[in-house]
Amino acid sequence: MRGSDVAELQSILQLIGYRPGAIDGIFGNQTEEAVKAFQRNNALTADGIVGPATYAKLEPILLGYDLYTIKKGDTLFNIAQQYHTTVYAITTANPDINPFFLNVGEEIIVPYGIDLVQTNIPYTYDVMEKDIRGLQMRYPFLEVSTIGQSAEGRNLYLIKLGSGPREVFYNASHHANEWITSPVLMKWVENFSKAFARDGTMRGYPARTIWEQATIYIVPMVNPDGVELVINGVSAENTRYRQLVEWNNGNTDFSNWKANIRGVDLNRNYDASWEEYKEVESLLGIDGPGPYLYGGPYPESEPESKAVADFTRSRNFRLVLAYHTQGEVIFWNYRNLQPPEALRIGEIFASVSGYSLDEPVGPALYAGYKDWFIKEYRKPGYTIEVGRGVNPLPISQFDKIYEDNEELLLLAALV
Ligand SMILES: [Zn+2]
Repeated sequence: MRGSDVAELQSILQLIGYRPGAIDGIFGNQTEEAVKAFQRNNALTADGIVGPATYAKLEPILLGYDLYTIKKGDTLFNIAQQYHTTVYAITTANPDINPFFLNVGEEIIVPYGIDLVQTNIPYTYDVMEKDIRGLQMRYPFLEVSTIGQSAEGRNLYLIKLGSGPREVFYNASHHANEWITSPVLMKWVENFSKAFARDGTMRGYPARTIWEQATIYIVPMVNPDGVELVINGVSAENTRYRQLVEWNNGNTDFSNWKANIRGVDLNRNYDASWEEYKEVESLLGIDGPGPYLYGGPYPESEPESKAVADFTRSRNFRLVLAYHTQGEVIFWNYRNLQPPEALRIGEIFASVSGYSLDEPVGPALYAGYKDWFIKEYRKPGYTIEVGRGVNPLPISQFDKIYEDNEELLLLAALV
C-alpha cells in the first residue's frame, strides 16, 4: 500500500467508527488493530491485512454506496435504516423507482449516510476517481466525461453541473504540488449536488436557480500524473525514475514539483506571450524539463494543456477560474486585454473570499491558462491563489480554504 492508500484507509475507518490512530499514512499498531476490529465485525479473518476480501468490504464504503436487492416486505424506510441513510438519498440515487411499488428482486443504489469527499487525506487521482464514481451514483443528474488523457494515460475528468445559458469553467491542479485545490472543487461539487437534490440552498443561494441560469464545467485535476508524483513519489522500477530524479536535481523528494510528468510547467505552456517567456526562461537558468517553470518546446505541447485549451475552444465560456496555491490572492488581468467588467467581478471575488486582488509579477506574467483565455476571448479569467504557506500546503488548511471559496464558486456562475 502507498502512504496515501494507508491515509485513505485510516480516514474511512475513523469515519465509520473505528480508532485507527492519527491519519498519517503510516500503517502502525493502532491502524492494524482497527483493521482487525473491522474484519471481526464483517466475518472476515482478523489478520490485520487489507487483502482482496477485506478490500471488497471496504470498497462500497469508500464509494459511498451499496447495491441492494429488494426483498419481499421491504420499504424504502427500512432499507434506509439498515444503511443509516435517508429515504430521500435513496430516491435521489434511483430517480425511476416508485416508493409505493417496489419490485422484489430489483437492484437499487443505496447511498450510505456519510459524505463522500474526504478532505483530510492526500488527494490522489485514485481518491478523486472513487469520489467521482460515488458522486455519480448518488447524484445521477451529474454529467461526467473526460476532456482527454494525461501523458501517463490518466483521465482528465470533466464534471458538468447545471443546464443554464451562462457557461463557466473552473479547473484546479495545473501545478502538481498545488493538489489541495482539487478537493476544494470536488467538495464544492458534492455540497452543491446535495443542495440541488433537496431543492435547497447553498449559502442562501437557491441551488435550482443556479442550475437553471448557469452550466458549470469543472476539471478538478488538470495534472494527475504530477499530483501522483508529488504525493507518492516514483518507484525505482518505474521506467521514468532515472529521468525524473535527474530533472529533479538528483532529489527523490518531489514535493517541489509543479510540472507534468514530462517536466513541462503546464501553466507556462499556453499561447500568451509564450515566445517572450522563452527569453525569461533563459534568464532564470531554465534550459529544459524540470520541476517547474519550463514552458515546453511550443505552446500546448503537452496533452494536459492541449486538452484544456481544446475544451475551452469547444465551448463559449463567459468566465473561467484556475485554482492554484498560495498567497490568498486573485490575479485578474493580462496585458490590459481583460474586459472592463473584469475588475468589478474581481472585487466581488476578493470581497467574498477575503483575498486581495493583485497583478502578477515575474514568470507569472507569461503563458498561463487565464492569460491565454483573456487574450483569446477578452472575457473575465482569474487565477485564484488559495491558502498561505509553502507548497504543497498541508491538508489541515483545507477547511479554511474551502470556507474562503465556497461563495466565490457560486457567484462566479452568476456574475
Ligand atoms: Zn500554481
